[in-house]
Amino acid sequence: MSLTTPVRGGCACGEIRYESSEQPLFTFLCHCLDCRRATGSAYAANVFFTPSAFKFTGPEPKSYATTGLSGMPLHHEFCGTCGSPVGTHSEAFTIIKGVRASSLDDPSGLKPIANLWNSSALAWETLDPDLLQFDTQPTEEEFGRIMASLD
Ligand SMILES: [Zn+2]
Ligand SMILES: [Zn+2]
Repeated sequence: MSLTTPVRGGCACGEIRYESSEQPLFTFLCHCLDCRRATGSAYAANVFFTPSAFKFTGPEPKSYATTGLSGMPLHHEFCGTCGSPVGTHSEAFTIIKGVRASSLDDPSGLKPIANLWNSSALAWETLDPDLLQFDTQPTEEEFGRIMASLD
């Protein structure tokens, strides 16, 4: 997976802008109810960056929190003006910073590696069988293996 760095993106109206000086770590397709509700879509393509390489370059997005599988808050970030979903950050997984793939200026170079929350996927969805498959989300151990396989 290779995008032009800095990788830039933002919301639909342009008020919220961000950039990452590094390539994304990985992209997951998440079929959980929270992602479906937050994006208004059948699933969310979520791109993850190294938090230290990532920053909002203008105003910070607004956010609300849901409770993740870990029991820890998962914050969903959106633009307060246009309402576009922009990103997520999980208090359980602070080593990654999530961004909604469609907020990237050019998401065409992304290559999703896994389907998450297949147990909540809608029956009319077609899941790509070539990706890693998770009924819910990777355990800490599985997550570690994914991180290790990146280099
Ligand atoms: Zn906006
Ligand atoms: Zn999700």
